[in-house]
Amino acid sequence: MHPQRRMQYLEAIGIDLWVTRRDSGAGAAAQLAPGAPAAAPDPSGPPGETAARWEALRSEVLQCTRCPLHITRTQGVFGVGPSRADWLVIGEAPGAEEDRRGEPFVGVAGQLLDAMLRAIGLDRRTNVYIANVLKSRPPGNRDPRPEEVAACLPYLVRQIALLQPKIMLAVGRIAAQNLLATTVPLGRLRGQVHRFGELNTPLVVTYHPAYLLRTPADKRKAWEDLKFARSVYQQLGQGAVTDGNRS
Ligand code: URA
Repeated sequence: MHPQRRMQYLEAIGIDLWVTRRDSGAGAAAQLAPGAPAAAPDPSGPPGETAARWEALRSEVLQCTRCPLHITRTQGVFGVGPSRADWLVIGEAPGAEEDRRGEPFVGVAGQLLDAMLRAIGLDRRTNVYIANVLKSRPPGNRDPRPEEVAACLPYLVRQIALLQPKIMLAVGRIAAQNLLATTVPLGRLRGQVHRFGELNTPLVVTYHPAYLLRTPADKRKAWEDLKFARSVYQQLGQGAVTDGNRS
């Protein structure tokens, strides 16, 4: 990605980058912001059988009555993105706008998430899949209850099995703690490569965009997380990812 464009994205997120004059040249720009290798768009879609599994899973989710949230929701919110994306972003649960439109992260927080993802070369239309731990909106956006997570998480696990992402990014405490089955605070989960599931998929944790809207001072830390996730992804092809902390 052109460094100037990245600067525009970062500005849109609300992050000021201070660049020394020496570093503002083209050579240094590569060092500042190497682009993540964007996965190729998948115009052909997945092979028939996988497509049928995705469709079956989607309709199961949309008809789901496993927990009482189905009574209050407008509709289930399955997920969005290409079915062969390398990246999977996971949030908490649909909010009011997502419940209305049936797509994750389409409200104000979603706009910030899109801008954050764009800054590392990701776009839900081409190379990142976005889903939530819960597929139904909790009334008043309250935290998901353990029994709701227990009922809904198997859907996400099946989405992950179909997608087989190369890397996962959990946004926010609820997503991170539920995926990692831990109560460790978010701040201590950041900056590390965790692993998820049987495929040991690398998983990186960052702040939820709704939190960043309330606490803009932490956007810089989120940007560090995104750069960290991008570097983990870039190392995957070289077989060099370890479970260590960010240096
Ligand atoms: N917050 C989430 O965690 N997910 C959404 O889809 C929207 C807001």
